[in-house]
Amino acid sequence: MNDLRKSRIYYTKPSITELESRYAADAATNGWGERCYEYIERFEDLFRQHLGVRHAIATSSGTGALHMGMAGLGIGAGDEIILGDINWIASAAPIAHLGAKPVLVDVLPDTWCLDPASVEAAITPQTKAILAVHLYGNLCDMDSLATIARKHNLYLIEDAAEAIGSVWHGQRAGSMGTFSAFSFHGTKTVTTGEGGIFVTNDDSLYERVLTLSNHGRARGDKRQFWPERIGFKFKMSNLQAAIGCAQMERIEDLIAAKRRIFEYYRDTFANLPLSMNPEPLGTVNGYWMPTIAVDERVTFDRSALLDIFKADNIDGRVFFWPLSSLGLFDAQPSHHVSYSLSRRALNLPSYHDLSDADLARVCAHVTHVLGAAR
Ligand SMILES: *Cc1c(COP(=O)(O)O)cnc(C)c1O
Repeated sequence: MNDLRKSRIYYTKPSITELESRYAADAATNGWGERCYEYIERFEDLFRQHLGVRHAIATSSGTGALHMGMAGLGIGAGDEIILGDINWIASAAPIAHLGAKPVLVDVLPDTWCLDPASVEAAITPQTKAILAVHLYGNLCDMDSLATIARKHNLYLIEDAAEAIGSVWHGQRAGSMGTFSAFSFHGTKTVTTGEGGIFVTNDDSLYERVLTLSNHGRARGDKRQFWPERIGFKFKMSNLQAAIGCAQMERIEDLIAAKRRIFEYYRDTFANLPLSMNPEPLGTVNGYWMPTIAVDERVTFDRSALLDIFKADNIDGRVFFWPLSSLGLFDAQPSHHVSYSLSRRALNLPSYHDLSDADLARVCAHVTHVLGAAR
C-alpha cells in the first residue's frame, strides 16, 4: 500500500520539462564540430539580456566564476576581501586560493547580509574589495556598499548565486558589481546540473577574464596553443548550456514558482514568533530559499524540529554556519548576529513544483512546534 504521507519532500530539486530534455538531446546529437559552442553562446546571450549587462562568460561552477573574476582583478597575496561571516564556503574559498585574506564581518539581523557599518570599520590599507553575497535571495544594501566602495576606492563584487529574480531598486542582483558570479548548481533557481557564469559591464575586465578562461590564450592571438599567462579551465559544456537555454526561456516561471512557495509559508506563519526573508520597499526578493529565523527570546531547539521533519520524510537544512566557527579561520564569537542566526534559523523545502498539499505538510510541523511558543 502506498503511504502518501511519507512521500519524500526534497528541499530543492530542479524543474525539468520536455524543453530541457529536447535541447539536451539536440546538443548530444548535433552539438559538435562547427556547432560545439552554439548553446553556450546562446545561453550567455540569454543571461546577459535577462540581467541587462554587457558581458557574460559561462563557467563550470559559480565558485570558478568568482575565482576567475577575482584573478582578473589582480587580487592576490597580501590583499584583503571583506565578506559576511555567515556564508557558504564557496564565497570565501576563491579568496583563499588566490592567497588573499577573507576578512569576515557581522551581518544585519533583518537581511542576514553584510552590515555596511561593520564593512567600513574593517577597511585597512590592504583591503581590495567588498564581496556582497545576497544570501538566500535577500539583497545586500547595495547603495551603502557602493558608497563605501567609491569612498575607499575598492571593488564591489556581487556573489548573486542565490539571487536570481532579486531586484534592487530597478537593478537586478548581479548587474551592479564590478563583476558578479552566479551558480547553476542543481539546487539553484536556474540549473545546468553544475555550472556558473561570470558577468560584468567592464570591457577590459571582460577581456582579461576571457583570456584567463581560455587557459591564458588571448582571443586575438593567431598563434596556436600560445598561452600568454597561466589561466583557468572552468568552462561550461555545450550540453549543460543546452539545459540552461531551456531554463532561461522559462526563467520568469521559475522565479514565480519560488515566490509562490515563499508566500505560502509567509502567509501560514504570519502569527508565529519568527522572521523570514525580507523584501524591503523598492526591492524584489527572488526567494531562492525560504528561511525561518525564530525570534531570539523564544526557546527553540532547531535540531528537534529537523528531527520531526526527518521522521515525516521532509528535508530541512540548517542555516549556514558562521565561517569563523568552522576552525578554518580565526573564531569571531563577537559577531553576535551571525552566531545567533546559526542557532535559530533553518531553510524549508522550496523546489519549484512543491504542491500546496506538501507545503501544508511542512507547515503543520512548524506551526505545531512554534504555535505554543507565541
Ligand atoms: C551555490 C553558491 C556558490 C557556488 O556555486 P557552485 O556552482 O556550487 O560553485 C557560491 N556562492 C553562493 C552564495 C552559493 O550559494
